[in-house]
Amino acid sequence: MVGLESVNKHFGDLHVLKDISLEVQPREVVVVVGPSGSGKSTLCRAINRLETIDSGEIRIDGKKLPEEGAALADLRADVGMVFQSFNLFAHRTVLDNLTLAPTRVRKTKRAVAEAEAMALLDRVGIAGKAHHLPAQLSGGQQQRAAIARALAMHPKVMLFDEPTSALDPEMVGEVLEVMVSLASEGMTMIVVTHEMGFARRAADRVVFMDAGQIVEQNTPAEFFDSPQTERARSFLASVL
Ligand code: ATP
Ligand code: MG
Repeated sequence: MVGLESVNKHFGDLHVLKDISLEVQPREVVVVVGPSGSGKSTLCRAINRLETIDSGEIRIDGKKLPEEGAALADLRADVGMVFQSFNLFAHRTVLDNLTLAPTRVRKTKRAVAEAEAMALLDRVGIAGKAHHLPAQLSGGQQQRAAIARALAMHPKVMLFDEPTSALDPEMVGEVLEVMVSLASEGMTMIVVTHEMGFARRAADRVVFMDAGQIVEQNTPAEFFDSPQTERARSFLASVL
């Protein structure tokens, strides 16, 4: 569903992604972990082409990521992205946040988009907030709205970059619940997170990055219980 082949990225002298190859299968949930600065966000941003790459290839659903233009917009629409900061449109209601892209990009009829949006808000447990502005929601509710907004585009894959790390601790669980249920429904997901409990529960595969490289990847049970490298062992010792 998502394929990276020998992807390299530099920021000036800094080699941030070093020959990254990764194949994410349909319905697979890949959790990416690693120390700060290891390139996890850059990887996510490259998949959505929010960041250019220097060499290598990225494919979404078999199609090479185009450089720009309408083809890029189309492919981007297939990739739902949820960031640490909620990025909702502040001056639009929650419902409008969900219907804007489907009506404009997908040309979905307003009534259809609204019905779908309400169903999605119900699914993430905030249907009662449809007509509120984002600022009137708690952090956890805003992040659930952001997930619903991404889902409204019917993405083929969802990328999450530390979706719970800006939340108050008591709100982390409600967002992870939504992500766990999405995973169990078969959504293809790439999730950068420090929530190791989520990784154990929901990941098919854990990818450990350090200094721009994929150092090891394994099932959560294998990765957490018997990491293969010293780097993974010391990382786990620092987070668990
Ligand atoms: P964290 O866990 O802290 O979010 P990360 O693994 O997501 O870290 P990245 O944000 O991908 O790491 O950053 C990888 C490296 O690239 C870091 O050294 C960072 O300082 C650098 N970097 C990221 N974005 C830029 C940029 N726009 N310009 C220059 N350097 C950058
Ligand atoms: Mg990051």
